Amino acid sequence: MWDGSERGSQLAETVTALGWRRTPAHFRRDPVDSSTECAEGPRRATGNLPVMEPVTESEVRASFVNCSKGDAKRLPVPRDLDNRPWDDLDFLGWSDPSFAGRCYLVFPTDDRLIGIALRHESNASVRAQMCSICMTTHSRGGVALMTARKVGESGRRGNTIGIYICADLACSLYARRKKTPSLGNQYREDLTADERSERVRDNIAAFIARLGD
Ligand SMILES: [Zn+2]
Repeated sequence: MWDGSERGSQLAETVTALGWRRTPAHFRRDPVDSSTECAEGPRRATGNLPVMEPVTESEVRASFVNCSKGDAKRLPVPRDLDNRPWDDLDFLGWSDPSFAGRCYLVFPTDDRLIGIALRHESNASVRAQMCSICMTTHSRGGVALMTARKVGESGRRGNTIGIYICADLACSLYARRKKTPSLGNQYREDLTADERSERVRDNIAAFIARLGD
């Protein structure tokens, strides 16, 4: 069963809040107006979005916005949450070890964690593709077109949105150059690691905003 509209409207508020931050911070020249921020909000990185803090299994299960509560209860949460490199993560992403093509990501926003269930077909493409989140180019299936069911009425009607993303969901590590694609490319860019990880957060926030459009 799909959850009621209440959850959808909560997400709509969250994605609206994310919307005004969608301007990539590395293009933003003006300092962020701190008067609009809560004095004691979540810890922030150099950009305006909160950094990823360690999360628990119950927090992960409670975070999903585009699958049923039953699915969120059953889906496989990683067992090694205590050992994830949290300081190097902009979001937590993982694959279902039992069902090929089912992936999940959890992303921190000001109000709450947002979890998204994703699906993808196995990618037999031999040509190189670029991840639209961290801009890493992979060859031979290293990038997947993942789809997410939208929230609310639109999702109930079966509408989805798609995104080209690293199939291993390790964008945070590629952005920080802590992981290198096996056969792909990381463009030499005039951006610092902080700016690249900020771009990852901005791009995920924009993707989440589209879920509620
Ligand atoms: Zn990526």
